[in-house]
Amino acid sequence: MKILKIALLTFSLISIGNAQTDQEVLKTIYTQSLANGKSYDWLNYLSNQIGSRLSGSLGAEKAVAYTKEELEKLGLDKVWLQPVMVPRWVRGAKEFAFIESALGKTTNVNICALGGSVATPALGIKANVVEVKNFEELEKLGKENIEGKIVFYNRPMQPDLIQTFEAYGGCFNQRYQGAMEATKYGAIGVIVRSLNLRLDDLPHTGSMTYGDLPVEKRIPSAAISTNDSELLSAMLKLNKETKFYFKQSCKQLKDVQSYNVIGEITGSEFPNEYMIVGGHLDSWDLGDGSHDDGAGVVQSMDVLRLLKNSGIKPKRSIRVVLFMNEENGLRGGNKYAEEAKRKGENHVFALESDAGGFTPRGFSFDCTDASFEQVLSWQPLFKPYLIHYFEKGGSGADVGPLKTESNVLAGLRPDSQRYFDHHHASNDTFDAINKRELELGAATMTALVYLFDKYGVNPISTKKTIKN
Ligand SMILES: [Zn+2]
Repeated sequence: MKILKIALLTFSLISIGNAQTDQEVLKTIYTQSLANGKSYDWLNYLSNQIGSRLSGSLGAEKAVAYTKEELEKLGLDKVWLQPVMVPRWVRGAKEFAFIESALGKTTNVNICALGGSVATPALGIKANVVEVKNFEELEKLGKENIEGKIVFYNRPMQPDLIQTFEAYGGCFNQRYQGAMEATKYGAIGVIVRSLNLRLDDLPHTGSMTYGDLPVEKRIPSAAISTNDSELLSAMLKLNKETKFYFKQSCKQLKDVQSYNVIGEITGSEFPNEYMIVGGHLDSWDLGDGSHDDGAGVVQSMDVLRLLKNSGIKPKRSIRVVLFMNEENGLRGGNKYAEEAKRKGENHVFALESDAGGFTPRGFSFDCTDASFEQVLSWQPLFKPYLIHYFEKGGSGADVGPLKTESNVLAGLRPDSQRYFDHHHASNDTFDAINKRELELGAATMTALVYLFDKYGVNPISTKKTIKN
C-alpha cells in the first residue's frame, strides 16, 4: 500500500511538465484524488469529532480552528481568517408535538423548529388546523377561517422533476415565508411539510424569515416529517376538528464573532487575478452536516492540495474559501465579496460545491456565452470520468455576491436524487457519504480550476495562451 502511494507521488512529480497534455494532467488529478485523497479523512474529523456547526456554536468555532490548522499543513502561500459577525440561533430543548383527534386521544409526531423561529409559549400551543397547499389558498380562506388556528403547509415536492433542486425551489417559500404569510390572517403557529421527496419520519429544518414583522407579531414555525404530514392530512380529512399541539424553546441570541477560513496559492504569472473554490463551513444542527456542506468544504480544501500534489503551478492566485453562515444569513459570502471589492481584487472565477457529496455529474455556470463556449470545448476531457453535465444556470449562494459582467461563477452538480433524503435533517451524517464519490467531486473541481487557470476565463486570453 505504502509503496503504491510513493510510486504514484513520484510519478506525478516527475511527469507533470509543460509537455503534458490536458488529458494526462486530468488523469493525474483523478488518480491523486482516488488513490491518495485527503477529503474523506478531513470530513471524518469534521463530522465525527466536531459535529454540527451552526453559526455561532462551539462546533462552528472548532471547525474554523481545525480547517485553518489543516490548511496550514499543506504548505500554501497564505492561510488566514477573515472576521465576520454572525447570527446565533439556538434550538433549546427538543421539540414536542402531537395530533389530537379527540379529547385525550393523541398521536405523537416528529417536528423540529425552523431556523430563526421564535419559541412557543412555555406550555406550548394547541389549536385547530387549517391545511393549505400554497399562499393563494391561504388568501382565499381569509382571516375568518384562519384566525387563532395553526396553518399547516402541505405542498409536497414534485416527484417528476429530475433536478431535485427544482422540486426544492418549488416548495421553499412554504418554509421560508410561511409564518410571515400566515400572520397576515391571524394564525398563531405554522407547521410545514419537510422538504424531503421520500416518506420518512425525519423533520428537516432550514431557514425562515419574519421580514419586518415586529417581535410581538412573530409566530412559531416548525417542520413536520413527511410521514406525519400525510398522517395529519388524513386525520384532518376524517375530522376537521382535529387539533395540533406543539412546543419548542428556540431562541435568537446576540450576534457573535466568527470567521471565513481562507488559503491561497499565489499565482506565478497573474497573482492579481483570483480564482476561488469554496463551500460553507457552517451547517444545521440536527445532523453533522456531512453533505451540507462538509463535503463541499473538504473537496475545496483538497482542490489546492491536489493542484500542489499533481505538480501544477497555477498562473493565477487560487484560493480556497470556507464560508461561514451560509445557512442562516449568508454573512460570510457577503463579507468575502465586500472585502474583495474594497481591496480591488479581480475575481475572475469562483466555484462552489454546496449540493452534496454524491457522484459528480458536472457543473452549472453563470457566465458569458463566450466563456460557456470555452467550457463546452473541454467537455471531451471529462468524458472518461463520466462527467457530462455542463449547463448554464446558478452557481452557489456564497459565491453569488462576486458576480461581475465578465467573470465565471460555477457550482459543482453532483447527482441530486438522494440529497433531499438528508438535507437539513438528523441523517445528514458521515455514514451517508461515499468515499469515492466525494473524491471524484474533488478531482472534478480541481480539473475545472486547472483548465480555467491554464486558458483564462476570457476567450481572448485563451487564444493568446494557445498561440504561445
Ligand atoms: Zn448548503
